[in-house]
Formats: sequence, C-alpha cells, structure tokens
Amino acid sequence: MPASLIEGAPIARRIETRLRDEIAKLAAAPRLVGVMATKNGGARYYARSQRKACREMGIEFDLIELPTDASTERMIDAVRELDSDPTVTGIILINPLPQGVDARTVQRALDPDKDVEGVHPRNIGRLFYGDFGLAPCTPHAVVTMLDEAGVDLAGRETVVVGHSEIVGKPTLVMLLKSRTEAPTVTCCHIATRDLAAHTRRAEVLIVAAGKAGLITGDMVREGAVVVDVGINRVKGPDGKSAIVGDVDFEAVRERASMITPVPGGVGVVTTALLLSNTVECARRQAERDV
Ligand code: NAD
Repeated sequence: MPASLIEGAPIARRIETRLRDEIAKLAAAPRLVGVMATKNGGARYYARSQRKACREMGIEFDLIELPTDASTERMIDAVRELDSDPTVTGIILINPLPQGVDARTVQRALDPDKDVEGVHPRNIGRLFYGDFGLAPCTPHAVVTMLDEAGVDLAGRETVVVGHSEIVGKPTLVMLLKSRTEAPTVTCCHIATRDLAAHTRRAEVLIVAAGKAGLITGDMVREGAVVVDVGINRVKGPDGKSAIVGDVDFEAVRERASMITPVPGGVGVVTTALLLSNTVECARRQAERDV
C-alpha cells in the first residue's frame, strides 16, 4: 500500500489559527523586514511569498534593498538600524548574500529578539537546551510534522541526510531534545561513504541535500517515515519546469509508511513557523519594554 501523506497545509492552518488569536492580543501589528542584496529570481520569489503570507496573517512586511555588491559592513549597518527601530519586530536576511559577505558576522549583528530565522548564536545555543522559542524554521517544521503525524521517535533509527548549519545540524539537535525518548540519530553528508547502507537502516529518514532524485526506492526501508526537505527546480519530460524534492517520490511512496510531499510539505510548515517566530519576537520585545 502506498505511504500516507504528511501534508503541510493542515499543520500550517493549525499554527496560523493559534497565531491569529495571539496577534489579536498584541498592542500593534508585528512588522517583519527583509534585507535583500541580490537580483536573484528565487530570492525575489521568496520575498514575494513571505509578503503574501504575512499579509494574510495581519503582519506587515517590508523589504530593504541594498546594492548587490554591498559589503559586510554595509549589511551590518542596515541590520543595526533595524535592531534599534522600535517599529521593527523581526528581521530576515534574504539569501544569497553578496559574494564576500561574511554571513556569520552579519547574523551576529541581529538583535537576538528580532531573529525570526533563529540564526543568531544565542538562539542556536538555546536549541542545545531544548528551547525552541526562536528555532530555525525548517528544522522546526521537520520535528513539528513528525510530532503532528504521531511518529514515536523514541530509540528509532533516524537518519538525516545533510549537515548544513541552517537545516541538517539544527535538525539533529532538535531531534535529540528528549532525554529519554530521543531517536538514535545518524547524520550523512557529502563525505558519507555508503549513503544507501545508512538510509536502508532508517526507520525515519530526513533528507535535506538539495539533489533531486538522490533517494531512490531501493534506498528506503519498508515502512519507513520519510521527510523530504529538498526543493529543486527541474525540467520535466514535457520541458516545463517543476519543483521536486530530494526523494524519488513515486518509487519511495511504494515502500514508505508515511511521506511528506514536495511541494506542499515541509515548505508550507516552514512559512507558518516563520510567522510564529515573528509573533514570538513581538512577545519578547513587549516583555523587554515593561
Ligand atoms: P546545503 O547545500 O547548505 O547543504 C546540503 C547538505 O547535503 C550538505 O550537508 C551536503 O554535505 C549534503 N549533501 C549534498 N549532496 C549529497 C550527497 N550526494 N550525499 C549525501 N549528502 C549530500 O543545503 P541546505 O541549505 O541545507 O538545503 C538543503 C535542501 O533543502 C535544498 O534543496 C534547499 O532548497 C532545501 N530547503 C528547503 C526548505 C524548506 O522550507 N522546505 C528550507 C531550506 C532549505
């Protein structure tokens, strides 16, 4: 029997319903500001979709555009200005940053209470102690989806493919939150010698590599739960471009027990959690002001 789908939309709707109540209780509408220094089409599409998602939730969204050759110092100045602006609730650094810009230095300039993407070292550090208040949105979406789907992780063989700072590594830390009911976690990456040997052992397989078709049907254990984080633009047989994940969806669906679709899976929940982080930032700043 093909795997059942863990769809993002119903989970995102539940998060948004909770947020609507919380936003109604705030003294003013939250305001999210994106800092963009690129003409990249994907980045513009991302900014447009954030604006739309914010508007639907009653959150203001503004974009600050910097030159595409902006320096690290120029980016830091822009961030510091937003840090000290009391009308700004949250700040997003829209990727890609200009060549030569040191992302970590710019991230460190963020006010940690305006860090909606959970990239400031203070918020990353909090993850180690199980505080997911301002967690990076995509890893948070992965663990939220597993939880909402009722997947019992305790002791289960769980393989994460990908060890980036924004997805893979924080996902590992978040999976290990529970002292007594955490899964047994393996991390695979580009230097892993025999990827299939690891993925075939996985009762829960989380894939965030950015390689379309990396995980084929024969690499998946019968009955596994599969979470596909990848977002890849590919040309279909009809010549039209399409968005696919890292998993060969049709083949893997025949072996897995549950699977997240792409699109319509992790990405949708990630957006809802970005809005949730914005509201959390508003709450933290309100507490700071009293
Ligand atoms: P990245 O390029 O920073 O990291 C890729 C990771 O995959 C690295 O750890 C690398 O070692 C590993 N990898 C690459 N090829 C591999 C291979 N052949 N075998 C094993 N490991 C391999 O990418 P990222 O920023 O972590 O993003 C990963 C994917 O997730 C991308 O497709 C990205 O578009 C997508 N993404 C989705 C969302 C969402 O909301 N759904 C959010 C962020 C990123």
